[in-house]
Amino acid sequence: MPGLKVILLGPPGAGKGTQAARVSDKLGVTRVSSGDLFRGHQQKDTELGRLARSYMERGALVPDEVTIKMLMAWVKDPRQAQGFVIDGFPRTLTQAEALDTELANSGGIDKVLHIHVSDEELIRRLSGRLICRQCQTPFHSEFSPPAEPGKCDNCGGELFQRADDMPEAVLKRIEVYANETKPLVRYYKEKGKLVEINGEGSIEEVGQALIEAIS
Ligand code: AMP
Repeated sequence: MPGLKVILLGPPGAGKGTQAARVSDKLGVTRVSSGDLFRGHQQKDTELGRLARSYMERGALVPDEVTIKMLMAWVKDPRQAQGFVIDGFPRTLTQAEALDTELANSGGIDKVLHIHVSDEELIRRLSGRLICRQCQTPFHSEFSPPAEPGKCDNCGGELFQRADDMPEAVLKRIEVYANETKPLVRYYKEKGKLVEINGEGSIEEVGQALIEAIS
């Protein structure tokens, strides 16, 4: 369904990244992850990357002003005119309002898929997560370990634990989600855009529920 503009909303560890790839492939639209954009800036060691790092490492949100600017540049690109899936943005009411303003002349967001997962499950998922330094493929030490420890099945790259997946930062990110991002559930519900998705099934089950929600 080209033309559809979708947001994946949910706590860190809900599987937004994995599912954003599946949903955007299914819809045939582009996708973006605000976290990946920031990590890209860090890898290139840009000024924005250096600023973002200081917030990300402790599990805090990067300030709205710079985050909104970065995401709006992506949304405005003509490549996004045929629809898109966004993972990780908006995370505050200010960000949601900025996105609505930007899309006011093109019909706005079509659907916001809220993936919910219990705090206990999030902690288990995040604290075992490993990411490939080269191709960003996620693994999990318990649920989806790589064939060879420390090595990506996909490209052979080195696997590492994100600084913000360390226990202290994980708790902080869950707290920030509850305080800053959870209010968006109500915001989009009142606009009639919200669909609730149980995020505790398998990747396939959750993916199926998401696809049904937008079909
Ligand atoms: P993620 O990969 O989505 O878990 O994002 C990793 C980190 O990037 C977050 O913990 C924040 O520090 C930062 N970040 C990503 N998206 C946003 C956003 N929309 N607003 C503020 N900070 C963000």
